[in-house]
Amino acid sequence: MTATWPSLDKGNGALKAVAAGWSNFAVVTTASPWALAQAHMPAPRIVVTARDLSRQTLDALREGVRGVDMIVGIGSGLSMDTAKFLAKAEQTGLAQVLTTSSNNACFTRTAWTFEGDARIPEREVPIPRHLVLDYDLLARAPARMNRAGAAEILCSHTALFDWQIAHQAGVDVQWDEGLRRSTQAELIRLHDYAGAIGADDLDGFVEIIDVGAKFAQGFTTHSKARFNGGSEHVLAWALEEQSGPRLIHGEAVSLAILLMSHIQGNDPERAANIIRVAKMTYKPEDLGITWPIVERIVMDFPGYATRVPWHTIITEFGRRGEDGKRDLAQRFAKAKDFVERLN
Ligand SMILES: [Zn+2]
Repeated sequence: MTATWPSLDKGNGALKAVAAGWSNFAVVTTASPWALAQAHMPAPRIVVTARDLSRQTLDALREGVRGVDMIVGIGSGLSMDTAKFLAKAEQTGLAQVLTTSSNNACFTRTAWTFEGDARIPEREVPIPRHLVLDYDLLARAPARMNRAGAAEILCSHTALFDWQIAHQAGVDVQWDEGLRRSTQAELIRLHDYAGAIGADDLDGFVEIIDVGAKFAQGFTTHSKARFNGGSEHVLAWALEEQSGPRLIHGEAVSLAILLMSHIQGNDPERAANIIRVAKMTYKPEDLGITWPIVERIVMDFPGYATRVPWHTIITEFGRRGEDGKRDLAQRFAKAKDFVERLN
């Protein structure tokens, strides 16, 4: 299947220009992004508030959007994943409107949903008809959120490591040398604009989103390849589940990248350097969590990781039983020490 992604409609006033042609559509959003976006588009048939990603919640939303031609996700990853799920379930068109650079949910064809504790990927959601990035909206998002989006690129630092582990373990993860190299090149290029991100320069935030758009093609052709998400995402999700929606996704990922790259023995200084220059928030106390919570989650991690259908370094700790547990505890202590010393 040669599915191609639309190019990103971006610039000042982009939303007004693109949305002028929309009719019979539903909006899926949350309060703050909707307050910003509303004035830039015609009235939707219905506005659905994204709440959580449990199958029960998502199924209950289906009836409200039945009969629309297009579902438009606006804002957070929660809104975008809800829009993706509904567009697939109701077989409608999909459009995604970015209001921050804080997550890359609009560029993947997987909507993450929950059945009880289990994280269920809803795959092959429709490729959006429109991807809209309006600079007027992006500039009004909290800078801290926009900076956090750099974690969605930096996570490839730990993900490439895990992807290789899975490949070597004989798991079918669509290993691809070309995709590994192009992802590595994006990690190197991140050094070029990390300073702009740290200076809250809009061009730096737009660059984050442009890289997300580049990765979209890889997510489509290599849906099993974990080139942009590995153990750091599994840890970030565990932190999010413990701490609730107040955690900014990219910040949970930033802390997780630091810890996991150290646990992997995979050049944590390199990751720390980007996080420092891009001024990304990562300290547990700034995220509203504490080290004892993080430690408890890491110690339960091999069990938690079995709920996510990915093979990472954590899977391997889990397989080694008591010995793996001891090793993980020792490595975590050193990783925590590393993160605490950063400034
Ligand atoms: Zn992410």
